[in-house]
Parts: sequence; C-alpha cells; structure tokens
Amino acid sequence: MVFKCQEDSFLKKFSSTVIKCEPTTEPVVEYGKTIPFQGYQVTLENTILFPAGGGQPHDIGRLNGTEVVQVLRKGSEAVHFTKEPLEVGSTVEQEVDWERRFDHMQQHSGQHLLSAILEKEFQMATTSWWLGCDESYVELDTATISNDVMKSVEKRCNDLIKEAIPVTVKICKVSDPDVNEAHTRGLPKDCMETIRIICIGNFDENLCCGTHVTNLSQLQMIKLLGVEPGKKGKTILKFLVGDRVIKVFQQMLDREKGLTVLLKNEPSRHDELIQKLQKNLKVANKNLQNVLQELAQCEVEKIKNTNPKPKYVIMFKKEATPEFNRAIIKGLEGENMFMFLASEEPDKPKEGQIIIQGPEEHCNALGDKITELLKGKGAFKNGKFQGKAGDLGGISKCKKLIEEYFDGLDKK
Ligand SMILES: [Zn+2]
Repeated sequence: MVFKCQEDSFLKKFSSTVIKCEPTTEPVVEYGKTIPFQGYQVTLENTILFPAGGGQPHDIGRLNGTEVVQVLRKGSEAVHFTKEPLEVGSTVEQEVDWERRFDHMQQHSGQHLLSAILEKEFQMATTSWWLGCDESYVELDTATISNDVMKSVEKRCNDLIKEAIPVTVKICKVSDPDVNEAHTRGLPKDCMETIRIICIGNFDENLCCGTHVTNLSQLQMIKLLGVEPGKKGKTILKFLVGDRVIKVFQQMLDREKGLTVLLKNEPSRHDELIQKLQKNLKVANKNLQNVLQELAQCEVEKIKNTNPKPKYVIMFKKEATPEFNRAIIKGLEGENMFMFLASEEPDKPKEGQIIIQGPEEHCNALGDKITELLKGKGAFKNGKFQGKAGDLGGISKCKKLIEEYFDGLDKK
C-alpha cells in the first residue's frame, strides 16, 4: 500500500484508527545501531510516520502523545514501536518529528539529485547509499574521483537547486510502460507492490519508496565532503544537504573560534602557528632527552660511589623515558645489584613501563611478586624483565617488598 506519508510528504499531523497492538522485544535500529527495546508494535489504518526503506531511516513521532521510537514496514503494513500500548479500535492523532523527517527528505532527495548528476553527466553509477546520523554517502562504481570532478559535480547540483526544479511523484502499476524507463536504484522488494517514481523535473526518474521534497529549492544546497576508498574498485563519496550544511558550518566556526582563542591569532595563521608549536615541542623534547641522559649518568655515578655499595636500586621517576631507564641499567650493569625501575606512560598515568634486572636469585625471589602487584605484562628472560605495568598503584608495596627482602637477607 501507499502510505499517507508517501502521498503527502509534508503532512505533519494525521488521525487514524488502531487496528493491532502486540507486545514486542524486537530491537530498535537507529542509524545502523541496534538498541534493545521492550514495548508494543502498533498497526494503524494509515500513517504519516515513514517506515524505514529505500535507504531512508524510519521516522519517530507520537501517537496521542505516546512516543514512537521506530516504524518498520512489515509486508504491506507499517508497524509503530511504542513504549505504551494503544487500544485497538481507538482513533489516534499522529504527529511526526518534523525536524528529523525534513532532514531525511533533504538528504534523500539530495542523494537522488547527486546520483543523477554523477550518472548522467560524469558516467559514475551509484551502487548503494547510506543516510547517517551526521553524514551520508553514495557508493560509486568507480575507483577514484578527482577534486576537480568533485567540484564540478557539486556545482552542477547547486546550479539545479538554484533553478528550483519541481520534484514530483508518479504512482504506477507494475504493468505500466513508464516503469521500464525508471531506474530501480536501491529499491527494496517490499516496496514493489505499488510503483512510485520520483521525478526531478524531466531530468531524472527513479523508483523509490521514500519521502521527498516537492522542489529542489527546498534542498538549499549540497556540499560534498570528500571521498574514501570503498569495497573493491568502489569509492565512497560523502555529502551533506540543506540544514546539515548550516549545522556543520556552525560547528566548524565554533571550533575555529576556540582555536583562535587558544592560538591567540586569526584563522588564516592557525596552520603556521601549529607548525611552529610542533617544531618547538620537538626541540623541547630533544632538550629533555639530553637532560635526562645527563641525569641518568649522575644517578649512576651517585649509586656507584655510595659506600657501602647498595645491594638494590629502586627508581620510580614518573617522567623517565625508556632511554633514561636503559641508561641507568647499562650504567649499573656488572655491579651485581638488583634493579627495579618504573615510569609512567605519558597519557595514561596509571600505566607504565617496568624493568627488573639483577642477580638471578633475587629476580627469582621478587620478580613474580612485583609483576603481580603492578599487573605487569611481559616475561622474565635471562634474569631480566622488561614490560608494561597495568596499574602503578602498587608501587609503594613493591618498594616495601624489596626493602624487607634485602633486610631479611642482611639478618641471615
Ligand atoms: Zn530514493
């Protein structure tokens, strides 16, 4: 059947009768994301809430104030998913979430226009399309698209939008000779009973079950976002239509304003300033490395010159780099000391690097206990442990463990 939403895509309110209401646990799929659901499936005589199909996501809305979270086409019926039951035989006032619906209409009609231009003027066929929560894309039967072609396609789409070409719907029977002229792009099987042809002036005709704008001017504009490689030999072309262009432009402006405050200079200089910051950071890091190397040498000398020579070294420096730790280990190699070194990961303060090294008897006695306390990942190899610590919270316990172990040895 042709639903009311397909007859008049601009109807925002409508009354109909409940003919079925059954409990359900079928999940809700929101822009490809599956969400568990428990509620009711309500069937009405007719509906202005579009059931997902033809690449267009389902509408949401209200039935007498009861929230509709999903509408699916099942055979010739549209099934409304509600949290509350509705009485069979009662009349309900339907209300569609118009902001969401009009957004879908803009993206969907925009896709028809974009696919038509790509196919008719640039010989690139659309093999599938996706209407996402933030971005949409067409999958094209081509390995790549140049920036120049993208610019030309975008310009052609926007030129046709400026011409304010009417978008009309023809409803035909399967036997109608008109059907052969139209494309079958992206048409699901359950939409076949009545054929709807969406016409953009006399520029494009397309079989489709979706809801569409009535004039290209309602699309406002199309913005192509760029390409990504798709499946074998295919290309994904991302796009935005209408209000989404304004929304994304505002988000970009806000981000740019934020950067202007952070960088204390105008947007045209952001690039240059970030490059300068990156360069400065590189120099600062190099200097830090040099200072840490020198510090490691000092630490090694200090330990070597301690009298009596310590049996063990515990070193936990948050900022220590792997190079620093290696310099310490190297400097003290051959001193017959038990060494336990730990440092933090730069972005994950709880996690870190650990090195345990020294005489085998001490490593055997302490190694497993230390790695267990620090949730260490790695293995002892030739009396040496080098690996990751999952939780540095146990570091003071490790210190205590090592101190007590060597105190015990002294007392023997
Ligand atoms: Zn369509």
